[in-house]
Amino acid sequence: MAITFEAFAKNNPCYKAARKMPAESPAGIIVHSTGANNPNLKRYVNAPEICGENLYKNYFDRADIEACPHAVIGLDKSGSVRTAQLLPWNICCWGCGGGSKGSYNYSPAYIQFEICEDGLTDNQYFEKAFEQAAQLCAELMKSYPTIKIENVISHKEAHARGYASNHGDPDHWLAKFGKDMDWFRDLVKAKVQSAAEKPGTAKRYRVQIGAFTNNAGAKNYLAQAKAKGLNGFVIKVSSKLYRVQIGSFSVRENAEKYLAQAKAAGFNGFIVEADA
Ligand SMILES: [Zn+2]
Repeated sequence: MAITFEAFAKNNPCYKAARKMPAESPAGIIVHSTGANNPNLKRYVNAPEICGENLYKNYFDRADIEACPHAVIGLDKSGSVRTAQLLPWNICCWGCGGGSKGSYNYSPAYIQFEICEDGLTDNQYFEKAFEQAAQLCAELMKSYPTIKIENVISHKEAHARGYASNHGDPDHWLAKFGKDMDWFRDLVKAKVQSAAEKPGTAKRYRVQIGAFTNNAGAKNYLAQAKAKGLNGFVIKVSSKLYRVQIGSFSVRENAEKYLAQAKAAGFNGFIVEADA
């Protein structure tokens, strides 16, 4: 999935149980939020190179915990909103407990993810986090046509339907900014629609290693990179600006690895996003 990175919680008993979802699943998606003021992924995700180190090791990737969502959305170590995938999408997670009629953990089984809460007053983080959540839902709906938009629900809504424990997340957070789950579903719908209208416009990640005022300089630099085994191209931005970029990846981590490879070969650079 394009927007997520894998950080499987392999020590979590839920990951180990690997209970396959029943037929016609995933039947929906439950959106949770953590209920604690800590927007940093490292609190929940064991991926120090992306999220930063959690010295307490109290993330989901541990043996003595009774819960595990499929994914967590929050801030990586550089302060960007990212989505970590903790479980394969097609195994049952332990996320919502049970209600009067059963549990969406198992039957029918829902994909469930957590959004890291902050102090619930930062509008910018709110917008970015729910934007990413909507993007995740849209991509999951594309991968799993069994998921219908009316079954993209909050933990609170799952409880109201009788299939989850009595929690109010993330509706309490949405309400702080005058929003609700209908607003969120509209956001998801818009993303599903725009993806259908513009196939193949997914983001690409490239590594920019240089910028030159003329084509010859850029080409010469690219040749040096190619001599070191790096693949790339010159992008003409204007008659006075030529960028040298290498690699082209749909997954950001792969671009980061390529950047490390470029640095090891003596080239400095940074990652840029481009439409495919
Ligand atoms: Zn919840």
